[in-house]
Amino acid sequence: MKRRVTRQIQVGTVPIGGDAPISVQSMTTTYTRDVQATVAQIHRLEEVGCELVRVACPEEVDAQALGAIKRQIHLPLIADIHYNGKLALLAIEQGVDAVRINPGNLLGGREMFTSIVTAARDAGIAIRIGVNSGSIDALEQGLQMRKVALKMRDDGTLVRSDPAEERRREREQLVERMVARALEYCGWAEDLGFSTYKVSLKSSNVLTAVAAYRQFAAACDVPLHLGITEAGTLVSGSVKSAVGFSQLLGYGIGDTIRVSLTAEPEEEIPVAYEILRALELRHRGVTFVSCPSCGRVEIDVLTIASEVEKRLARVQTPIQVAVMGCVVNGPGESRDADVGLAGGRGKGVIYRKGQVVKTVPESDFLEEVLKEIASLLPPAEALLVYPGDGSAGSVSLGRTRRSGIHQSVDQQSSTESAGTTGGLRGVPLPLLSQREVS
Ligand code: SF4
Repeated sequence: MKRRVTRQIQVGTVPIGGDAPISVQSMTTTYTRDVQATVAQIHRLEEVGCELVRVACPEEVDAQALGAIKRQIHLPLIADIHYNGKLALLAIEQGVDAVRINPGNLLGGREMFTSIVTAARDAGIAIRIGVNSGSIDALEQGLQMRKVALKMRDDGTLVRSDPAEERRREREQLVERMVARALEYCGWAEDLGFSTYKVSLKSSNVLTAVAAYRQFAAACDVPLHLGITEAGTLVSGSVKSAVGFSQLLGYGIGDTIRVSLTAEPEEEIPVAYEILRALELRHRGVTFVSCPSCGRVEIDVLTIASEVEKRLARVQTPIQVAVMGCVVNGPGESRDADVGLAGGRGKGVIYRKGQVVKTVPESDFLEEVLKEIASLLPPAEALLVYPGDGSAGSVSLGRTRRSGIHQSVDQQSSTESAGTTGGLRGVPLPLLSQREVS
């Protein structure tokens, strides 16, 4: 995939743009003034592969905490500032690696922008110029929308225009304004001889965001931070981000990404990497292949696959793992993976690098798969996956699809007549997903 040619900037130790890998970032959800909680969350983010972290600074006390946070973390730290530009100046004094501002809502306008850019330049750090559809000329937008909502016929009567056409024109106008504003702010920075900045053009509407990024990307070589703002909860946010990012990244647009989710920030990182892996833009961590299971399934794919995936969450080495439910597609997918499990009746075949390694009974699936995966990883990561000392909890689920069905039948038969429950899944055993992973 050919990347758009951009200038390269540096945010702390992480290069952004040019030929740098597309970096993954997130934002903390703690109160920034709570240094201990914020540092702890940043460490958790780092463990799962976050490469840059942003923290909100709504008040002076938050900006004042930045120095203490910075001293205790490894990731480049970005201060997120709205309205009060003095907090951006304070953040720069505290030693952050970048500040994110939205010049459109900055009190003091261009004068304050100039002060922030001058301070950033003197400190040798970057800024992000953020333009957000939600905060762009709300009043002007409303007037525009009303204008296109009504059309006058030749006889002088007013009719409502086609809603789909209205939406398209509204979007076009909004995108034009977003891009014009972004380019204007870039001009302010360039007038000061400052080029160490990136831009974001966010919208919660995927089509608006995609159109704005594409239009902006065609006009300059400024690196872009991609984000679909207020994207939603785990499912809706992941889907919206994947749809938007894949279109943009497919055009070679995007130098750093954040998947915004209404969830713990640690959950944003695997989604971001999954998107980048699917597009073959980053190869970090586990590429997971598992069948959805169906009426032919011979093993409890759902439980085994989710448990394996969870135990591999902190692995950074690129590795492909397959967990397949039966012989239809199991051997093929397992052979193509670095480690694969192809389920069969009461047993399963484990593949390693395309070769059959062993046939194991259902009760040993998890343990054997984890052992094989660990054997392909560097020692530190192998210990995370299969410590072999019980510290990651039991590795034998002790559960099979058949026993699951029987459990269900037994349980149901005490309250219902037997014979009406065939095919029900079993009662889940306590899993890592339901307790803390050490
Ligand atoms: Fe169904 Fe087998 Fe395909 Fe899994 S691999 S979806 S169990 S046919």
